[in-house]
Amino acid sequence: MLVDTFGRTATDLRVSLTDRCNLRCSYCMPPEGLDWLPKPELLTDDEVMRLVGLAVRDLGVTEVRYTGGEPLLRRGLPDIVRRTAELAPRPQISLTTNGIGLDRLAGPLADAGLDRVNVSLDTLDPETFKRLAHRDRLDDVLTGLAAARSAGLEPVKINAVLMRGINDHEAVPLLRYCLDHGYRLRFIEQMPLDAQHGWTRHDMITADEILERLSAAFAIAPDEEHDRGSAPAESFIVDGGPHMVGVIGSVSRPFCGACDRVRLTADGQVRNCLFATEESNLRDALRAGADDAELAERWRKAVRAKRAGHGIDDPSFLQPARPMSAIGG
Ligand code: SAM
Ligand code: SF4
Repeated sequence: MLVDTFGRTATDLRVSLTDRCNLRCSYCMPPEGLDWLPKPELLTDDEVMRLVGLAVRDLGVTEVRYTGGEPLLRRGLPDIVRRTAELAPRPQISLTTNGIGLDRLAGPLADAGLDRVNVSLDTLDPETFKRLAHRDRLDDVLTGLAAARSAGLEPVKINAVLMRGINDHEAVPLLRYCLDHGYRLRFIEQMPLDAQHGWTRHDMITADEILERLSAAFAIAPDEEHDRGSAPAESFIVDGGPHMVGVIGSVSRPFCGACDRVRLTADGQVRNCLFATEESNLRDALRAGADDAELAERWRKAVRAKRAGHGIDDPSFLQPARPMSAIGG
């Protein structure tokens, strides 16, 4: 098992399959993009499967989420999903995507064994989308969402990040759209993980502000029946139910104490936290011929060193060198 010194066990593995993306969300990367990782540094499909297989068979991982960058840009994705579904014990398999290309890929991914999908959608206005993501692709995202639902990848979850002065007036329309279409919406507080280091506490729309905005149009009540567990989203009942909305207060309401996540970057580095400043290089060990026992021990050691919390509020907080797109959100 992957246990840290605070007694937390990591069972939820997030695997970044590429650091590349076809959008440029301003909370994530600059308009001109980033220096992408050179191909030889990326894990091959077989290397990804070697490490995911090890995590599932020997290290107690029960859920595998593929992410990026934009994971739909990875050509081998359906095959990676299929091979993940063949592992024993079979893990839950999910995907976090911006939705572009899902119209074509939702069916094949569902057939390959994908269980669930989270799609990012921050605005319903094409002009705001262009301003926020620097690409005119809103229609592709909406078509992708519909395809995910048709393919049975339900419940389709939507992640939305609100930015002050850009899309923070859209909390209510976004929730209405999701309720109308049967999507489960979760708002995520903006975190200091952008490549440009442009995050400020003032510009972050806090969980409290999100709830306040929603309350202007809906009756929003905490879901006291269900324990949040290790889930980062706090659930709220909308208009008496059964509809729900989630709020992920990563900064103002951190859930580090219950965190069960561990991350593998596209170039084969284990990170024990989004905000970790250290990584463990499994790729080089693997390529140097390490056997499964040695890789497993390196992985356990990396998780053991996990800090108690992300420390964004500490004066000594340092934003990690890697941006979100290269870590895997
Ligand atoms: N490209 C895919 C997508 O956008 O869903 C997967 C990768 S993206 C890094 C994963 C999630 O992280 C998205 O929901 C995105 O909105 C979120 N994200 C990216 N940068 C963020 C930030 N600075 N703060 C909070 N969430 C962020
Ligand atoms: Fe791409 Fe996702 Fe980052 Fe947006 S949040 S730029 S879609 S990786």
